[in-house]
Amino acid sequence: MSNKANKARKVVVIGAGSVGTTYVYAMMHTGLAGQIVLIDVDQRKVQGEVMDLEQGLAFVQPVEIRSGDYSDCADADLIVITAGTKQASGHNRFELVHRNVGIVRSICDQIKEHDSSAVVLMVTNPVDILTQIALRRLGWPRGRVIGSGTVLDSARFRSMLSRHCGVDTRNVHAYILGEHGDSEVAAWSLSHIAGISMKDYCAICQTCDSENEHEQIVRQVRDSAYHIIDYKGSTYYAIGLSLVRISEAILRNEHSILTVSLLLEGEYGIDDLCVSVPCVVGKSGVERIITAQLSKDEQAALKVSAQAIKKILDSVSIQAESVIS
Ligand code: NAD
Repeated sequence: MSNKANKARKVVVIGAGSVGTTYVYAMMHTGLAGQIVLIDVDQRKVQGEVMDLEQGLAFVQPVEIRSGDYSDCADADLIVITAGTKQASGHNRFELVHRNVGIVRSICDQIKEHDSSAVVLMVTNPVDILTQIALRRLGWPRGRVIGSGTVLDSARFRSMLSRHCGVDTRNVHAYILGEHGDSEVAAWSLSHIAGISMKDYCAICQTCDSENEHEQIVRQVRDSAYHIIDYKGSTYYAIGLSLVRISEAILRNEHSILTVSLLLEGEYGIDDLCVSVPCVVGKSGVERIITAQLSKDEQAALKVSAQAIKKILDSVSIQAESVIS
């Protein structure tokens, strides 16, 4: 990749907390961006993080890392939002909604002032709800305001299947759809190992009671954030790398299929809700939704997951209306 191409790529990261800075740290190693700008309400923290990151520049690909403000969004290619409150031990992601909705609305209002043509990637939880709030607030095309969705959950699914089956994670292709949260859906019918469907792979392998073990793996994927938060306070390494993967697809215009969260308009029988499904991701964000053939159970579970998101979104919308009236 030429340095000129790098220079053209500018990423603005809003929220210099654990997730935002881990993402920047991982991005520094990739050469994907020529400029990475950090914005945070906590000025001292953002200055300290920038200094710490900058002092490692001798060991990575050339990149300018600095603190900035919302005017940096004007010529950004990608804006990553990681600002807001994180999950506390024993709490679920939906419990963050009322605190983070106000933060995301005010961030979007400031982005909007600068006539940006960037893709916005929402990470703050609950990510599906906040992607939709941001999309409404910005009023941009749906493909340009996306959430990290279940890219992280799909990575967890792949990693756990890889460990269970004893094969390289990169040979495992497995997808989690729906809410990034408790109602997420394991799409076994789309999952495979080196092109062999999971059903066929299990029939060949025959080393476990696949039905029981599959359920256990899905439970572990769903609950792993709870365990990590319980053990060490928050999760940031795997989400940081998931964000690099999505950034790669956008900044390199890769047309990669990733399970990002996007406003569905009837696809999979779901309307007017941000939910993760397989999407083709390139420089303008989501270019296309893949409407894959799910099993009947998976289709039903996806609708239940969408309903769980809708219930919370409706409560946020009702609250916003009562504040206005
Ligand atoms: P953190 O507390 O370490 O950092 C949050 C940062 O946001 C802080 O530096 C804070 O000063 C900043 N901030 C708060 N309000 C702001 C505003 N209005 N403008 C700019 N900056 C502001 O939290 P974290 O661990 O980095 O997590 C950040 C968010 O990411 C949380 O909501 C967490 O739940 C979420 N998260 C999402 C995923 C996912 O898969 N989508 C995974 C992990 C964490």
